[in-house]
Amino acid sequence: MTNPTPFPRWPPDWPEIAQSIARAVQKGDWGRYRGAAIEELVARITDLHSIKHCRLVCSGSIGIQWALQAVGVTAGDQVALCGYDYPGNFRAIEALGARPVLVDVDPTTYSIDPQPLRTIDPDSISAVVVSHLYGIAAQIESIRRICDEKGWKLVEDACQNPAMPIAGRPAGTWGDIGVVSFGGSKPLTAGNGGALLTNNDAIASKLNAWLDRPSDATPLSELQAAAVLPQIDRLDACNQVRWESAQAILSDVGWMAQAMGDRLPCAGATFYKFAFLSPQRESTLEWMTQAGLPVGKGYRSMHRSSDRRCGKIGDLRGCRDLGDQLCLLDHSVLLSEGSQRQRLIDALNNRR
Ligand SMILES: *Cc1c(COP(=O)(O)O)cnc(C)c1O
Repeated sequence: MTNPTPFPRWPPDWPEIAQSIARAVQKGDWGRYRGAAIEELVARITDLHSIKHCRLVCSGSIGIQWALQAVGVTAGDQVALCGYDYPGNFRAIEALGARPVLVDVDPTTYSIDPQPLRTIDPDSISAVVVSHLYGIAAQIESIRRICDEKGWKLVEDACQNPAMPIAGRPAGTWGDIGVVSFGGSKPLTAGNGGALLTNNDAIASKLNAWLDRPSDATPLSELQAAAVLPQIDRLDACNQVRWESAQAILSDVGWMAQAMGDRLPCAGATFYKFAFLSPQRESTLEWMTQAGLPVGKGYRSMHRSSDRRCGKIGDLRGCRDLGDQLCLLDHSVLLSEGSQRQRLIDALNNRR
């Protein structure tokens, strides 16, 4: 028999989160447009990413849309993104009246492949959206270079990995604008929420003009800010524990190391979920679920989207394969330590 709750839970039940929210209630800030927690969260996120401007928003999804608009995407433009990505990014492009152009995935990073991206005519698109998925960094240095050469703007989706170091720079700061999320499953969570990051003064002042009406048009609330703050203090420690769990899986669970293939984590990978491929996905998910492991499918590949709605570069075979085979072990179990982690390894090795 399996213990029904053998692993850490998410959202976390840390007392400091309750205390932080209680403080906002006691001070009356819960009922104000803007209180101390919001001010402090802006300062902390700015500092965490060593960025010039940070703007809090009510979700990562709307953050991507504001980001696209802030880099100048308008109706009739074309915007490239990976055909395997958060579907909301496709919708955000469409919401602006622009047209998504799907690019195949680099299967070693789960993110846009720089090779086909490089073949796109500079005049045919105006911006690129790139996401870092599952704690594996996109090839962001190459993608940044391509965008600079072609004159494209870069929107960097760091929703899953706030401040993950990539080649010495935090995720979210490689783009002209970056987006992080405080959604319910994310490493910093408030149930909903997000932040926009930029070093570009013109982008920041455009955002301020659009968002301050003068009430914030897509705000994060004071209580949400209060919930996120204490999690920032533990972000490094949680990233470290998830990293150690991922290393333990890679070294002690042969079939998962194999399923991970060449997708070796970059130094500092923050493992928001642990992704692996299974050609027999349904049966894999079934036995894992029965073993009490929180697993699920990755995104649906967008390679089948109608040609009316989007352009496509190549046959997007890589996206199709990830869409069919990708499985995700939830990040909550990656927070296991000691005997809990051993239980995780044992459960994973008990493959049927
Ligand atoms: C979660 C997520 C989003 C959207 O963030 P929300 O805050 O849930 O709206 C966007 N992109 C990626 C890659 C995500 O994981």
